[in-house]
Amino acid sequence: MAKAGDKVKVVKKDSEEVEGILMPRPEILEKGITVIKLDSGYNVGIDDKKVKEIKGVEQYKAKQKEKKELKFDDKLPTVAILSTGGTISSRVDYRTGGTIAELTAEDFVSMCPELENIANIKAKKVMSVMTEDMTSKEWTDIAKAIAEEIKDVDGVVVTIGTDTLHFCSAALSFLIKDLNKPVVITAAQRSIDRGSSDSFMNLICAVSAAAKSDAAEVMTCMHGTTNDDYCLLIKGTKVRKMHTSRRDAFRPINDMPIAKVFFDGKIEVLNDDYNKKAEGKVGVNERFEDKVALVQVYPGMEPEVIDFYVDKGFKGIVLSATALGHVPQKLYPNIKSAIEKGVPVVIATQTLYGRTHPLVYSALRALSIELGCIFVEDVMPEVAYIKLGFVLGQVKEKEKIKKMMTENIAGEITSRSLPQTFLY
Ligand code: GLU
Repeated sequence: MAKAGDKVKVVKKDSEEVEGILMPRPEILEKGITVIKLDSGYNVGIDDKKVKEIKGVEQYKAKQKEKKELKFDDKLPTVAILSTGGTISSRVDYRTGGTIAELTAEDFVSMCPELENIANIKAKKVMSVMTEDMTSKEWTDIAKAIAEEIKDVDGVVVTIGTDTLHFCSAALSFLIKDLNKPVVITAAQRSIDRGSSDSFMNLICAVSAAAKSDAAEVMTCMHGTTNDDYCLLIKGTKVRKMHTSRRDAFRPINDMPIAKVFFDGKIEVLNDDYNKKAEGKVGVNERFEDKVALVQVYPGMEPEVIDFYVDKGFKGIVLSATALGHVPQKLYPNIKSAIEKGVPVVIATQTLYGRTHPLVYSALRALSIELGCIFVEDVMPEVAYIKLGFVLGQVKEKEKIKKMMTENIAGEITSRSLPQTFLY
């Protein structure tokens, strides 16, 4: 009997024949449907009642890894690719329906042979974790792996899942100390088995950027448009996933991208306000306070929401407030009490674009001056959350916390809001 993964020919009672790979039946489908993957990559479901016979054509053989010897070319730069999980470093095994990780340097080069002409590739699996499951432990482990590898290479590429990539890119931007070479984070919205996969171009552009860019920054490198035109290098504290599935989902918020990177390796700088490559030793700031909450503000919000976090021992709260930084007045006494108990309350904006402002309205002055909330200019709520965890890991005194939260540490606060950054 044919098993999932085998090549089969399904002969239907009306004598139509369908040839392809027999797929494992997804849980969500009703029983009684046979699913076949056609050569075109599309899946078809055939009602079992219409099937006369399923003939085996070829048994599934697990793909043997091609062992490819990597040459070292001393005229090329060297790039380390560190994989942490996500679609970009996996492909579907049709036998099991699960994913197989492609992790070694040889795997990356055989998956994407162009890489061999751009750089000598070293690769290491750091972890295999979905980004939504990452915590400061994973972000710190990735930062440590980068600090370890970066000594011996020209730049580092980190492959990762996409969903909360921007939390990780922000965390790395704060945690890595004295970064002196490019760290380029890349990922994929569509898996490598799909014709529309963005994996290859993202990886090629990320390796080019890590090999050649003069930016000593944590940056993301993802599709800039829905076509394969170019990728964008965006600062790790100014990037956000803005669409569930589009390949150009990662956009800069309140900042211009650092550069466009093209398939042929050309880098076109759009914003040269970045740290340049330098000599020195890269380190990691390991202290991070996990007991920080990121709370969405909304009309009708019950004030007890604030008390909950204070009572549960949280050390800081970031409010994703409305527009310039408003929160319902009903919450003021609870915010006041939180701050009096030593829990800093930070105000970022849920509009994402633009800046909070502590003084424009009397309601905002009440929050900032009377209650002592910390307004963080054009820092996105997610980045404010990561930054507060980082800052509380370093300092405990109220004034020091406020000072660090309101000064730029890792490109998260821009000095001016440029009109061309809106919906870039
Ligand atoms: N939820 C997964 C993650 O963020 C999706 C995989 C992906 O986006 O690559 O890790």
